[in-house]
Amino acid sequence: MTEWDRSADLVIVGSGGGGLVAALVAAESGADVLLLEKQPKLGGSTAMSGGVIWMPDNPLMRAEGVPDSHAEGMAYLAHVVGDAGPASSLERRDAFLSHGPQMISQLQDLGIPFVRCPGYSDYYPDHKGGNAAGRSIECPPFDAHELGEWQDAVVPGMAEGIGFAVKTNEVRAVSHYNRSLATFLITARVVMRTAIGRLRRQKLLTNGASLIARMLKVALDRNVGVWTHTAVADLVLEDGRVVGVRASRNGASVAIEARRAVLLCAGGFAHNAGMRRRYSGDQPNDARWTAANPGDTGEVLEAAIRLGAKADLLDEAWWLPATVELADPTGASLSLARQRPGAILVDAAGERFVNESNSYVEVGKAMYARDKHSRAVPCWLIVDDGYRRRYAHTKSRPGVFPREWLDSGALRTASTLEDLARQCGIDPGGLLATVERFNTHAEKGIDPDFGRGQSAYNRCLGDPGHRPNPCLGPIARPPYYAAEVVPSDVGTCGGLLTDEHGRVLDGDDRPIPGLYATGNITATVMGRTYPGAGASIANTMAFGYAAARHALGSG
Ligand SMILES: Cc1cc2nc3c(=O)[nH]c(=O)nc-3n(C[C@H](O)[C@H](O)[C@H](O)COP(=O)(O)OP(=O)(O)OC[C@H]3O[C@@H](n4cnc5c(N)ncnc54)[C@H](O)[C@@H]3O)c2cc1C
Repeated sequence: MTEWDRSADLVIVGSGGGGLVAALVAAESGADVLLLEKQPKLGGSTAMSGGVIWMPDNPLMRAEGVPDSHAEGMAYLAHVVGDAGPASSLERRDAFLSHGPQMISQLQDLGIPFVRCPGYSDYYPDHKGGNAAGRSIECPPFDAHELGEWQDAVVPGMAEGIGFAVKTNEVRAVSHYNRSLATFLITARVVMRTAIGRLRRQKLLTNGASLIARMLKVALDRNVGVWTHTAVADLVLEDGRVVGVRASRNGASVAIEARRAVLLCAGGFAHNAGMRRRYSGDQPNDARWTAANPGDTGEVLEAAIRLGAKADLLDEAWWLPATVELADPTGASLSLARQRPGAILVDAAGERFVNESNSYVEVGKAMYARDKHSRAVPCWLIVDDGYRRRYAHTKSRPGVFPREWLDSGALRTASTLEDLARQCGIDPGGLLATVERFNTHAEKGIDPDFGRGQSAYNRCLGDPGHRPNPCLGPIARPPYYAAEVVPSDVGTCGGLLTDEHGRVLDGDDRPIPGLYATGNITATVMGRTYPGAGASIANTMAFGYAAARHALGSG
């Protein structure tokens, strides 16, 4: 028998959104909970993220009278996700849509505030069950001082690099602060909030870091044990049941007993080059471009697979096309340009191949699909001087592209499209013909080829000051600019197959006793698509909640 160094009812591996929500729900029901995190700071990719949660029929929508229902959510998932195998079975979709809103209500009851992200449309609002008013919510900024001795324990959030206490739903307005009175006023509010926070000597955490910090506070108040610097290496199986884990804590080996269950929330394997090469199939990837947290290395997923767990969707990721050469820690560089007027994406033939304003996951997948016929990994972002004059980026104001972008060659420029194409290895004739056709229609605000700028989602991310279509404008003013775009990602989203309770399934589709999982270590209920802003954190939190309740017999 194993000699245990510590014992708890529920042992949770990983401190992201799934791990923390499970910890506090379990602790609230009276369980003894231990949360293990291998990194020095807590929160994983969830803390680094926008912290947006996509939850159909959530309690904030109900309170504000925004029409939605469980049935609408089911219809929407049926239409946009389609058949993605057992990870997105009807039972799991139903569980997601049932547990998710309950989970948000319970967090609210525990004192965690959320606000809606009005206008942040579903990514496919025109599909059956789609919602253009937006089903996404987020936490307002949080003063880390409230965490006392844990105030530096959370991974810094998305806005730390920008220096403003900005909510994620405000980012699209702030990046267009100079384009309309409404966006200017939202930006002024953000500046004011930041200044007041500084005057009050607050340490404001925003976005995903706020979500994590707020959940951490509730968990600590309920005596959840939190161990950082503790890397789980293996699972302990006795008589066919998972009864604990083996880990390295500050370099020393420890065995930890789980009296009721082990819940795996250790994220995906975005940074594990070997696993990505092995599993990425038709979407070849070697971990070079990912923006996921550095702890996303897959060893816990591999340990579960060794134990007999079944996996699916391992070739899939939350794709995020990015100009990696130009990226900054917030990701808010030229990568966002594709959704603005005066910008297109082209392949090596100089041809467009996708609605550039569609979701990052869809555009990433389109790059891989196109690459089978014409080189599109990388593809190229093409913008004109009108774009440069109009738009701000995190590190540049309108009218200025940072010198280092041009000096490094990451951003290329030429006075004609043909010259630009030659510099980039793009077919000059192809690019010229594409831009000519695009411009003719863009002037009128239409895109007969890909329908860009038609959906509420496209339009909510476009330029509010541009007419007639906020997403479309001609590429006509020299000089022209080009930057390489690669299929980066914010994490992998394939992994262990779990049932509607979050139980890990074996090769015969039977639950492995004592073992639960959620988040990027699992095959997501979202399948191979991205329904709306926050679908990934919603996935990890809803099934973290479901798993904790089932494991402790309360759900
Ligand atoms: C910049 C950025 C912005 C994003 N914005 C959004 C957004 O707004 N909305 C959204 O839905 N998604 C967003 N995402 C994606 C989303 O953050 C992740 O997909 C999601 O948070 C993953 O949650 P998780 O619980 O699976 O894992 P994580 O939050 O990554 O947590 C996993 C934790 O497990 C730890 N761990 C790993 N291995 C071990 C081990 N062996 N032992 C102990 N601990 C271990 C890791 O160190 C990590 O802390 C964003 C991601 C990024 C990077």
